Amino acid sequence: MMKKRVTILGSTGSIGQSTLDVIARNHADYEVFALVAGRNVAQMVKDCQTFNPRYATLSCAQSNAVLKEQLSALNLATKVIDYDTDIALVCQHEDVDTVMSAIVGAAGLVPTLSAIEAAKTVLLANKESLVMSGQLFMDKVRQHGATLLPIDSEHNAIFQCMPEAIRDQRAQQLSQHGVTKILLTGSGGPFRERPLNTFQDITVAEAVAHPNWSMGQKISVDSATMMNKGLEFIEAKWLFNANTRDIEVVIHPQSMIHSMVQYSDGSVLAQMGQPDMRTPIAHALAYPQRINAGVEPLNFAAMKDFSFYAPDFERYPNLKLAIDACELGQSATTVVNAANEQAVAAFLAGQISFNDIYAVNAQTLSDMTLNYSDDLEGILACDADARSHAQQIIHARAK
Ligand code: NAD
Ligand code: MG
Repeated sequence: MMKKRVTILGSTGSIGQSTLDVIARNHADYEVFALVAGRNVAQMVKDCQTFNPRYATLSCAQSNAVLKEQLSALNLATKVIDYDTDIALVCQHEDVDTVMSAIVGAAGLVPTLSAIEAAKTVLLANKESLVMSGQLFMDKVRQHGATLLPIDSEHNAIFQCMPEAIRDQRAQQLSQHGVTKILLTGSGGPFRERPLNTFQDITVAEAVAHPNWSMGQKISVDSATMMNKGLEFIEAKWLFNANTRDIEVVIHPQSMIHSMVQYSDGSVLAQMGQPDMRTPIAHALAYPQRINAGVEPLNFAAMKDFSFYAPDFERYPNLKLAIDACELGQSATTVVNAANEQAVAAFLAGQISFNDIYAVNAQTLSDMTLNYSDDLEGILACDADARSHAQQIIHARAK
């Protein structure tokens, strides 16, 4: 069998590093074609030494220049290319089989779409790109015949529990295949039991300390506000051609069940495992085969608690906001995603409080006129306008 050649977008991040870990464990079957990231020169140099990719690039031009110097000093064969002009090359190159989309935020949209347009197998971790452009994104997948495999642990779990016909994104009706509900599970994050009247004092360190998963900073804050589950709700709608009433959010603090699919005969299929992203990454890399992910199986005898309950929207107003935006349509979800990226960045920078994240998101959504077109131009304009509006609100609230 030929080795599968993989381009990793966001290689220095949490998902990128887990992907490299799985590839290293299965080096007879996979090789790294290109590594792409933001500004982490040291990690990029290290990974180029280990994986010897054909191409590498960093989106920060200054960092990319340093990378080029360092790789040439080390005599590595990896060619450092320009991010802005050549990113499509490593997403669309004929020698590439699989593109891991794991850049954080809206910055991942354009490279992910270019991989889709070249009919690659796209492993989607970057949920923000699908949330901001849902219909366009899925239309392109179908139009170009790309294969889209979800990496988000919930969506990967749902994918594994879905009937075959739903898995290939041909816009099948869930009900025609006996599916009555998608049960989207979430841990409830670090503030599941924290008294609501202390939320204004939440620090950045508290917000990024997730009880079960180790992740990048942005998604960690999103998990604390449960905006992450809101974005995942929108993601599930697009990936599985679902209506908002087909999806139910269930809090499951132990993160052992990664999501479930309920059928008309009363069956509920769940996918379970350790909270370790190497499982969905390995699943998608090898699909429909199975490979070693380096993840220990669950030990059921050692499990103490196994609990479930409905989310409290007073505790998680961002979750409600995202579900409402999903009902409102494409521009609303683009706006919420953009406002949230700005608000989370401002919270991480110490400019606004934890509660302000919701205030910024809700105010941006209610202020904006949602009349943008659903083509890429309209989506990018909506995203840009929402960001500048959110930034004004942040400025007014800044400590
Ligand atoms: P992270 O912050 O650890 O890594 C982000 C990566 O993107 C880094 O390599 C960074 O250099 C790169 N990057 C940032 N800005 C960039 C830009 N403008 N251009 C190019 N590259 C840029 O984030 P993460 O936790 O690995 O998450 C990545 C994506 O996967 C996010 O969309 C997140 O929602 C999703 N995801 C993550 C997890 C997880 O467990 N970490 C789970 C599900 C989904
Ligand atoms: Mg998830």
